[in-house]
Amino acid sequence: MYKCLVCGYLGLYEKPYDKNGCASYEICPCCGFQFGFDDKDQGKTFESYRIKWISDGAQWSNKKKQPRNWSLEEQLKNL
Ligand SMILES: [Zn+2]
Repeated sequence: MYKCLVCGYLGLYEKPYDKNGCASYEICPCCGFQFGFDDKDQGKTFESYRIKWISDGAQWSNKKKQPRNWSLEEQLKNL
């Protein structure tokens, strides 16, 4: 499992970027960031996306994956 560089979620199936810098194009089930799309194509930074996601209420993009006792504060410590 790999870590999302935006929200600190520890359940990504692929490394966001391989050693050659190629993006996984995986969408984080937590913050919804898509590596390679939101950053390289859309020009968003991890930080700006994170701030916007949190200010929008830190909703999970895939709610089925949200643990019952999930804590945003705890997860952000992974970063
Ligand atoms: Zn994320």
